[in-house]
Amino acid sequence: MILSCIHTHTTFCDGAADVETMCAAAFAKGFESLGFSSHAPIAAKTGIRTFWHLPDERLAEYIDTVLAARRRWAGRLKVFLGLEVDYIRGLCGPGDRDILDLPLDYIIGAVHYVPSPGGELFIVDAPEEEFVPGFRDYFDNDGGALVRAYWEAYGELIRAGGCDVLAHLDLVKKNNARFGFFSPEDPRYRRQLAETADLIAEVRSRSGAGTVPETGAESRRPGSGLPVVEVNTGGIIRGRTPDPYPSPAMLGLLKERNVPLTINADAHAPDHLGGAYGTAAADMRKAGYTAMLVFEGREAGKALWREEPLDP
Ligand SMILES: [Zn+2]
Ligand SMILES: [Zn+2]
Repeated sequence: MILSCIHTHTTFCDGAADVETMCAAAFAKGFESLGFSSHAPIAAKTGIRTFWHLPDERLAEYIDTVLAARRRWAGRLKVFLGLEVDYIRGLCGPGDRDILDLPLDYIIGAVHYVPSPGGELFIVDAPEEEFVPGFRDYFDNDGGALVRAYWEAYGELIRAGGCDVLAHLDLVKKNNARFGFFSPEDPRYRRQLAETADLIAEVRSRSGAGTVPETGAESRRPGSGLPVVEVNTGGIIRGRTPDPYPSPAMLGLLKERNVPLTINADAHAPDHLGGAYGTAAADMRKAGYTAMLVFEGREAGKALWREEPLDP
């Protein structure tokens, strides 16, 4: 199968290796392309300080470094410049003007921060020592409330537009594997999946629109607003989930609605590149997919994708 990953982190945020090391690893593995998607800076905009976002003051250096790598690897590895942008209710999102104005090839939209019923922000994929007290104090250990809040936030991200790729769709299951706060078989959960799949299909059908009255975000550029869903193997690679994001059940719902998929490793280290791609492809085939999308770059403001068969 064609190997590509446009969801890649480096030492600019919480990755383990620098841009050049990741490029060399991708090239050695026979990758066609590698796209960098540092966690976009949020500190200046939101006041939230973390170790895992790109610092605001390093954004220009990040862009320069990736563009220099693109020139260095030309003819051997296609290098793309992107960002993984957090949607945080009322604070920031992929449709923000400052993000749209950057010279990016693509934007990955993500929900890590989920507002609790009391308004506190909770990181849904937080490590145990942070997850356990937050789930208790903000959600009263109510799994249904957390799951509801998560899908609500994800729906807002989808409606907000501005992103080319929807990241790790059912990330809420990451900590569920350890703490079991909801059942994926629960009809309410199934309904949340179906509603989310409907929403993605609806946004995709508004060809070229991609505007988002709710957040005031403007249409990105002509032809945008058609988000692609990634099949993200990061949870498998790091031993957190047996399935990719999203799970086979969601892949089936997306297939019924003809939503195209691309495969990413959410790589945080060189050996993550291409990890569990076979599992992702097998799950996609089981869901009825015969092809995947491979990112091709940006032209006239439009994300370009190419369809490739899912080889057995
Ligand atoms: Zn993420
Ligand atoms: Zn990521």
